[in-house]
Amino acid sequence: MSLEIVTIPCLADNYAFLLHDQASKETAVIDAPDAAPIRATLDSRGWTLSHILLTHHHWDHIDGADELRSAYGAKICGAAADAHRLPQLDCALTEGDFVTVGGEKGTIMDVPGHTIGHIAFYFPGSRAVFTADSLMVLGCGRLFEGTPRQMWASLCKLAALPPETRVYSGHEYTEANARFALTIEPDNAALLKRYETIQDMRRSGQPTIPSTLAEELATNPFLRSSEPQVKAAVGMDGAPDVEVFAEIRRRKDNF
Ligand code: ZN
Ligand code: FE
Repeated sequence: MSLEIVTIPCLADNYAFLLHDQASKETAVIDAPDAAPIRATLDSRGWTLSHILLTHHHWDHIDGADELRSAYGAKICGAAADAHRLPQLDCALTEGDFVTVGGEKGTIMDVPGHTIGHIAFYFPGSRAVFTADSLMVLGCGRLFEGTPRQMWASLCKLAALPPETRVYSGHEYTEANARFALTIEPDNAALLKRYETIQDMRRSGQPTIPSTLAEELATNPFLRSSEPQVKAAVGMDGAPDVEVFAEIRRRKDNF
């Protein structure tokens, strides 16, 4: 039985996600940008919270964590490497560790780049990966702490998951990401089609998250840094993948 996943818009453009196991009634939240909308969603469904799973230390992902812990007695789990700058952790996680929500196991993946201690939560039974500000829908996080090499390695690790995996990233940046992607690959048919769909979804106020890894592999310019046509498009025929990735990231920073 896979987890029920509920998307909660928070702050200006953040998302938190509830993971609910119907059999055990256990519920976890991925990131805690703001306690109020998360509490409202839990309360409206009559759910309580067992775990607060934090992806990285930025305030817009952790600010509501302490309030949620005291309101529900939930445990806060986050990267051991960032324990000094996360809320007090009840479980400190490293690559390959597991968290469990009801009957389902989520694996911890180290995905540094946006920050050094950034982790992702992969739930194979629900075909879902929670990537926050590492791999984003049609984009990737800005490199605040890590190097292009680190982020490229993180993206490659995520790209190796099964293509049907749903990608839940931390922000609604998709429309701007799509406009940028089109500057790199203006003739990518899958991207052009996706841009239409994204505009429709945003016009009707729907989240564009999740996407699937297969969609990202076909349209996300950062994930496509290894594709010959993308290298050619940025004038870097035959260059190493990581250098092409660094160039695309640089262009996005100035977009
Ligand atoms: Zn961040
Ligand atoms: Fe963020």
